[in-house]
Amino acid sequence: MGEEEKGEEYLFKIVVIGDSAVGKSNLLSRFARDEFDHNSKATIGVEFQTQVVEIDGKEVKAQVWDTAGQERFRAVTSAYYRGAVGALVVYDISRRTTFENVKRWLDELNTHCDTTVATMLVGNKCDLENIREVNVEDGKSLAEEEGLFFIETSALDSTNVNTAFEIVIREIYNNISRKTL
Ligand code: GDP
Ligand code: MG
Repeated sequence: MGEEEKGEEYLFKIVVIGDSAVGKSNLLSRFARDEFDHNSKATIGVEFQTQVVEIDGKEVKAQVWDTAGQERFRAVTSAYYRGAVGALVVYDISRRTTFENVKRWLDELNTHCDTTVATMLVGNKCDLENIREVNVEDGKSLAEEEGLFFIETSALDSTNVNTAFEIVIREIYNNISRKTL
Protein backbone atom coordinates (compact mmCIF):
# COMPACT_ATOMS: atom_id res chain seq x y z
CA MET A 1 0.00 0.00 0.00
CA GLY A 2 1.45 3.42 -0.97
CA GLU A 3 2.00 6.23 1.54
CA GLU A 4 -0.82 8.29 0.10
CA GLU A 5 -3.32 5.50 0.79
CA LYS A 6 -2.49 5.16 4.49
CA GLY A 7 -5.24 7.67 5.31
CA GLU A 8 -7.77 5.04 4.26
CA GLU A 9 -7.06 2.83 7.22
CA TYR A 10 -9.71 2.38 9.85
CA LEU A 11 -9.62 1.72 13.58
CA PHE A 12 -12.77 0.31 15.16
CA LYS A 13 -13.13 -0.08 18.91
CA ILE A 14 -15.25 -3.10 19.79
CA VAL A 15 -16.19 -4.03 23.35
CA VAL A 16 -16.95 -7.55 24.56
CA ILE A 17 -19.34 -7.68 27.51
CA GLY A 18 -21.39 -10.27 29.39
CA ASP A 19 -21.30 -12.21 32.65
CA SER A 20 -18.16 -13.70 34.09
CA ALA A 21 -16.96 -17.00 32.58
CA VAL A 22 -19.19 -16.94 29.48
CA GLY A 23 -16.04 -17.12 27.36
CA LYS A 24 -15.35 -13.48 26.44
CA SER A 25 -11.57 -13.69 26.82
CA ASN A 26 -11.44 -16.92 24.86
CA LEU A 27 -13.54 -15.50 22.03
CA LEU A 28 -11.07 -12.65 21.87
CA SER A 29 -7.96 -14.82 21.90
CA ARG A 30 -9.50 -17.14 19.34
CA PHE A 31 -10.22 -14.19 17.06
CA ALA A 32 -6.95 -12.32 17.57
CA ARG A 33 -4.47 -15.20 17.96
CA ASP A 34 -6.43 -18.39 17.17
CA GLU A 35 -5.75 -19.61 20.71
CA PHE A 36 -7.91 -21.20 23.38
CA ASP A 37 -7.08 -21.05 27.08
CA HIS A 38 -8.29 -24.06 29.03
CA ASN A 39 -7.28 -22.58 32.37
CA SER A 40 -9.49 -19.56 32.77
CA LYS A 41 -7.32 -16.68 33.89
CA ALA A 42 -9.99 -14.26 35.08
CA THR A 43 -7.71 -11.26 35.22
CA ILE A 44 -5.29 -11.66 32.39
CA GLY A 45 -4.73 -7.90 32.50
CA VAL A 46 -4.76 -7.35 28.76
CA GLU A 47 -7.10 -4.48 27.96
CA PHE A 48 -7.48 -4.98 24.25
CA GLN A 49 -6.10 -6.85 21.28
CA THR A 50 -5.89 -5.65 17.75
CA GLN A 51 -6.65 -7.73 14.70
CA VAL A 52 -6.37 -6.47 11.15
CA VAL A 53 -9.03 -7.47 8.66
CA GLU A 54 -9.58 -6.39 5.09
CA ILE A 55 -12.88 -5.01 3.83
CA ASP A 56 -13.33 -3.86 0.24
CA GLY A 57 -9.56 -3.83 -0.13
CA LYS A 58 -9.18 -1.52 2.85
CA GLU A 59 -7.26 -2.30 6.01
CA VAL A 60 -9.45 -2.28 9.09
CA LYS A 61 -7.96 -2.56 12.55
CA ALA A 62 -10.38 -4.10 15.02
CA GLN A 63 -9.37 -3.05 18.50
CA VAL A 64 -11.27 -5.50 20.68
CA TRP A 65 -11.59 -4.72 24.39
CA ASP A 66 -11.85 -7.27 27.17
CA THR A 67 -13.39 -6.53 30.58
CA ALA A 68 -10.53 -8.59 32.06
CA GLY A 69 -12.36 -9.83 35.11
CA GLN A 70 -14.21 -6.66 36.13
CA GLU A 71 -17.63 -7.84 34.96
CA ARG A 72 -19.48 -7.47 38.27
CA PHE A 73 -22.59 -5.41 37.63
CA ARG A 74 -21.74 -1.73 37.19
CA ALA A 75 -18.01 -2.40 37.72
CA VAL A 76 -17.14 -1.84 34.08
CA THR A 77 -16.08 1.78 33.83
CA SER A 78 -17.25 4.33 31.29
CA ALA A 79 -13.69 4.50 29.96
CA TYR A 80 -14.17 0.93 28.81
CA TYR A 81 -17.13 1.91 26.65
CA ARG A 82 -15.78 5.27 25.45
CA GLY A 83 -15.51 5.48 21.69
CA ALA A 84 -16.89 1.98 21.07
CA VAL A 85 -18.53 1.53 17.67
CA GLY A 86 -19.20 -2.19 18.01
CA ALA A 87 -20.17 -4.61 20.77
CA LEU A 88 -20.46 -8.32 21.39
CA VAL A 89 -22.86 -9.16 24.21
CA VAL A 90 -22.03 -12.70 25.24
CA TYR A 91 -23.91 -15.35 27.22
CA ASP A 92 -23.22 -19.04 27.80
CA ILE A 93 -25.82 -21.36 26.22
CA SER A 94 -25.26 -23.83 29.08
CA ARG A 95 -26.07 -21.28 31.83
CA ARG A 96 -29.53 -19.73 31.71
CA THR A 97 -28.70 -16.94 34.18
CA THR A 98 -26.07 -15.53 31.83
CA PHE A 99 -28.80 -15.21 29.17
CA GLU A 100 -31.20 -13.58 31.64
CA ASN A 101 -28.53 -10.99 32.43
CA VAL A 102 -28.14 -9.96 28.78
CA LYS A 103 -30.71 -7.17 29.24
CA ARG A 104 -28.63 -5.68 32.04
CA TRP A 105 -25.60 -5.62 29.78
CA LEU A 106 -27.61 -4.01 27.01
CA ASP A 107 -28.82 -1.35 29.47
CA GLU A 108 -25.21 -0.72 30.46
CA LEU A 109 -24.18 -0.44 26.83
CA ASN A 110 -27.01 1.97 26.07
CA THR A 111 -26.10 4.10 29.09
CA HIS A 112 -22.57 4.60 27.84
CA CYS A 113 -22.89 4.45 24.05
CA ASP A 114 -25.39 5.67 21.53
CA THR A 115 -27.72 3.27 19.77
CA THR A 116 -25.73 3.18 16.54
CA VAL A 117 -23.22 0.77 18.12
CA ALA A 118 -23.21 -2.34 15.93
CA THR A 119 -24.20 -5.04 18.39
CA MET A 120 -24.07 -8.82 18.13
CA LEU A 121 -25.78 -11.09 20.64
CA VAL A 122 -23.48 -14.10 21.05
CA GLY A 123 -24.54 -17.44 22.52
CA ASN A 124 -21.15 -18.98 23.27
CA LYS A 125 -20.18 -22.58 24.13
CA CYS A 126 -22.46 -24.11 21.49
CA ASP A 127 -20.21 -27.20 21.71
CA LEU A 128 -21.96 -27.95 25.04
CA GLU A 129 -25.13 -29.13 23.29
CA ASN A 130 -25.75 -31.90 25.85
CA ILE A 131 -26.07 -29.41 28.73
CA ARG A 132 -27.75 -26.60 26.80
CA GLU A 133 -30.08 -24.38 28.89
CA VAL A 134 -30.85 -21.71 26.27
CA ASN A 135 -32.54 -22.67 22.99
CA VAL A 136 -31.34 -21.15 19.74
CA GLU A 137 -34.86 -19.72 19.30
CA ASP A 138 -34.63 -17.85 22.63
CA GLY A 139 -31.43 -16.17 21.50
CA LYS A 140 -32.90 -15.37 18.11
CA SER A 141 -36.08 -13.81 19.44
CA LEU A 142 -34.27 -11.70 22.04
CA ALA A 143 -31.99 -10.41 19.29
CA GLU A 144 -35.00 -9.57 17.12
CA GLU A 145 -36.72 -7.76 20.01
CA GLU A 146 -33.62 -5.70 20.69
CA GLY A 147 -32.59 -5.17 17.07
CA LEU A 148 -29.31 -7.04 17.35
CA PHE A 149 -27.42 -9.47 15.19
CA PHE A 150 -27.37 -13.00 16.59
CA ILE A 151 -24.98 -15.91 16.38
CA GLU A 152 -24.00 -18.97 18.38
CA THR A 153 -20.29 -19.63 18.75
CA SER A 154 -17.77 -21.95 20.29
CA ALA A 155 -14.44 -20.45 21.26
CA LEU A 156 -13.38 -24.01 22.09
CA ASP A 157 -13.81 -25.49 18.61
CA SER A 158 -13.70 -22.16 16.70
CA THR A 159 -17.28 -22.31 15.44
CA ASN A 160 -18.43 -18.92 14.09
CA VAL A 161 -15.95 -16.88 16.12
CA ASN A 162 -14.42 -15.03 13.19
CA THR A 163 -17.85 -14.67 11.60
CA ALA A 164 -19.22 -13.01 14.76
CA PHE A 165 -16.51 -10.36 14.71
CA GLU A 166 -16.57 -9.96 10.94
CA ILE A 167 -20.31 -9.26 10.83
CA VAL A 168 -19.90 -6.53 13.45
CA ILE A 169 -16.89 -5.05 11.65
CA ARG A 170 -18.73 -5.09 8.34
CA GLU A 171 -21.74 -3.36 9.89
CA ILE A 172 -19.54 -0.62 11.42
CA TYR A 173 -17.88 -0.17 8.06
CA ASN A 174 -21.26 0.10 6.32
CA ASN A 175 -22.46 2.65 8.91
CA ILE A 176 -19.42 4.82 8.21
CA SER A 177 -19.76 4.49 4.44
CA ARG A 178 -23.40 5.54 4.64
CA LYS A 179 -22.46 8.60 6.71
CA THR A 180 -19.70 9.76 4.41
CA LEU A 181 -21.55 9.22 1.13
P1 GDP B 1 -14.77 -14.76 30.54
O1 GDP B 1 -14.78 -14.67 32.03
O2 GDP B 1 -16.10 -14.38 29.97
O3 GDP B 1 -13.63 -14.02 29.91
O4 GDP B 1 -14.61 -16.31 30.16
P2 GDP B 1 -13.28 -17.12 29.76
O5 GDP B 1 -12.90 -16.86 28.36
O6 GDP B 1 -12.25 -16.90 30.80
O7 GDP B 1 -13.84 -18.62 29.84
C1 GDP B 1 -14.44 -19.11 31.02
C2 GDP B 1 -14.40 -20.63 31.03
O8 GDP B 1 -15.20 -21.14 29.98
C3 GDP B 1 -13.00 -21.20 30.82
O9 GDP B 1 -12.87 -22.36 31.61
C4 GDP B 1 -12.97 -21.56 29.35
O10 GDP B 1 -12.09 -22.61 29.09
C5 GDP B 1 -14.44 -21.95 29.10
N1 GDP B 1 -14.89 -21.66 27.73
C6 GDP B 1 -14.77 -20.50 27.05
N2 GDP B 1 -15.31 -20.61 25.81
C7 GDP B 1 -15.78 -21.87 25.71
C8 GDP B 1 -16.46 -22.60 24.67
O11 GDP B 1 -16.75 -22.11 23.58
N3 GDP B 1 -16.82 -23.89 24.96
C9 GDP B 1 -16.53 -24.48 26.16
N4 GDP B 1 -16.91 -25.75 26.33
N5 GDP B 1 -15.89 -23.83 27.15
C10 GDP B 1 -15.52 -22.54 26.93
MG1 MG C 1 -12.21 -12.81 30.85
